Amino acid sequence: MLLKETQSKLLPTLKKYFGYDSFRDQQQLIVESVLLKKDNLVIMPTGGGKSICFQLPALLFEGVTLVISPLIALMKDQVDGLNANGITADFYNSSQEKFEQDAIFDKVVNKEIKLLYVAPESLSFLENILNETYFSCIAIDEAHCISSWGHDFRPSYQQLGFLKKLLPNTPIIALTATADKATRKDILEQLNIPKAAQFLSSFDRKNIELEVRPANDRVLQIIKFIRKKPSEAGIIYCLSRKSTEQLAEKLMQNGINAKAYHAGLNFIERTKAQEDFIYDKTQVVCATIAFGMGIDKSNVRWVIHYNMPKNIEGYYQEIGRCGRDGLDAKALLFHSYSDVIQLRKFMSGASNEEVQVAKLERMKQFSEATTCRRKILLSYFGELLSENCGNCDVCKNPPQVFNGTIIAQKALSVITRLNENEAIGTVIDVLRGAHNAAILDKGYDKLKSHGVGKEISWRDWQQYIIQLINQGYCEIAFHKNNALRLTQFSKKVLFENATVSLTKAVDIKEQQILQKEP
Ligand code: ADP
Ligand code: ZN
Repeated sequence: MLLKETQSKLLPTLKKYFGYDSFRDQQQLIVESVLLKKDNLVIMPTGGGKSICFQLPALLFEGVTLVISPLIALMKDQVDGLNANGITADFYNSSQEKFEQDAIFDKVVNKEIKLLYVAPESLSFLENILNETYFSCIAIDEAHCISSWGHDFRPSYQQLGFLKKLLPNTPIIALTATADKATRKDILEQLNIPKAAQFLSSFDRKNIELEVRPANDRVLQIIKFIRKKPSEAGIIYCLSRKSTEQLAEKLMQNGINAKAYHAGLNFIERTKAQEDFIYDKTQVVCATIAFGMGIDKSNVRWVIHYNMPKNIEGYYQEIGRCGRDGLDAKALLFHSYSDVIQLRKFMSGASNEEVQVAKLERMKQFSEATTCRRKILLSYFGELLSENCGNCDVCKNPPQVFNGTIIAQKALSVITRLNENEAIGTVIDVLRGAHNAAILDKGYDKLKSHGVGKEISWRDWQQYIIQLINQGYCEIAFHKNNALRLTQFSKKVLFENATVSLTKAVDIKEQQILQKEP
C-alpha cells in the first residue's frame, strides 16, 4: 500500500504539472505501482496517456527517472514540453558537446532534474553515474523494440537486460502501444522483470470505423473519398517514398490540398510538412510510416492505407492516429494482392523472416476476412469482443456468400493445365480466353480450358482467386515467380466435388461515379 502521504499528492501533482483533474482508466493504478517500486509493463494504445505513468511518479521520487526512448529526434520536443510544464528534465546524446554532457552529469548527481531522456545507444556513456544513488526509476518507452517478436525490433534495445542487474531495487516501467502476447512475454524475459505487474488497456477504439476495399483504381477511390470530406484532415500511408510523392501530385492535380512526407526530405522540409498538417494548412499528408510518431494532432479524421501494412501492429498503430479526440473517425485500408507479394519479397532473407511472414499472413487474413474486423483486431491483441462491433464494413454489409464450386473448379483446372507455372495475371487471361501476345507466344490459346471463365470479369476473377488462396484451395509460390499452384485441398474441389463458398465480388465503378462529379 502506498503511504497516505504519497497517495494524497497524486491528484494535486496531476493538476499542478499536467493540468488534468482526474486520471484516465488505469493511469492511477500504474502510477501507484511504480511508486511502490514494482516493475511494470504497460500496454496502452497510442494516445492513451502513457507519459503520465512515468512522468508523474518521476516528480514524487527523490532521484532522477531515466527514460529510455528510441526516438532521438523527439527527445528535445518532449523535454521542452516538460520544461514548459515546470518539470525539470533533460536529454543526453552523443552528438552533444562535452561541456553540455558534463553539465547533464552534474544535474543528475545533484538531483537537479527529475527526468533524463537517453537513447539506448548512449547508455554506456552514463556508466559512471548509472547507480541507485542517483536514479530512482527507469522508464523504457517503445518497449516492443526489444523483441524480435515485435514489429519494430531494434538491436540497441537488446542490451537493456543489464539495467535490472545493475539497479536491482529500481523499479522499471516498460511501455508500448503494440505488443501481442508473445512479444509481451519476450519483453519481460529480456528486461529481467518476470514478475512485473502487467497493465493492458483496452485496444478498442470504437469511434474508428474500419473498412477494407480491394485496391482497384485506388487513386480514384481516394479522390472520391476525400471529396466527400472536404475539410477533414487525414493521413494516407504508402509503402514507398516515390508513391507518397506520386499520390500527393495526383491529389493536387485533382484540387486536393495534399503534401508528401517521407524520411528522404530534409529536416526543414519534414518539420514544415508536420507543422502545416498540425496547423490545418495541409489537409492531407501522403506519408511513409515515418510520419506520425509523436505527432499530437487530435482531429485527424481519417487514415487511409494506400498499401497494405506489414503487420497488424503497424496497421493498428497507424489507424490509431485518427480520432484521438474520441469523435467519429474512419480507417480505410486498400487490400492489394501485389502489395502482399512486394512485402513478402522485402522480408526474404531477414533474420526473423519466419516471424515477419507469419505476421504478414495475419494481416492478409484480416484484410480478406468476412467476419467483424474489430473482433479480429482485438483478438490479435488478446482481447475478446463478445458482440460484433457494428462499426466496420463487414458488420455494416455482411457479405453475400454463394456456391462458388464451379468457379473454383475452373480456376484450379486452369492452374493445373498451366503446370502450376504461371502467376495470377496469366491464369486469369487464360480463364477469360485472352489473345494477347504472351498467351499466344506460349500457345495457351490452344489449351482446352482457354476461355472457360469468359463470363466473369477480370477483376472479379482476381477477387475470387484471392478468396480461393485464402481458403487454402491454391497458393502462391513466392520463390517461383509467384506462380499459382495447387495445395493438398485442391483435389477435394477438383475430384471430390467439395463445395466452395465464395463471397460476391465487390463491384467498383468509381470511374463512372467520378466522371459524374465536377
Ligand atoms: P501516449 O504516449 O500513450 O500515446 P500521451 O501520454 O502522449 O499518450 O497522451 C495522449 C494525450 O492524452 C495527450 O494529449 C495528453 O495530454 C492526454 N492525457 C493524458 N492523460 C490525461 C488525463 N488524465 N486527462 C486528460 N488528458 C490526458
Ligand atoms: Zn464489426
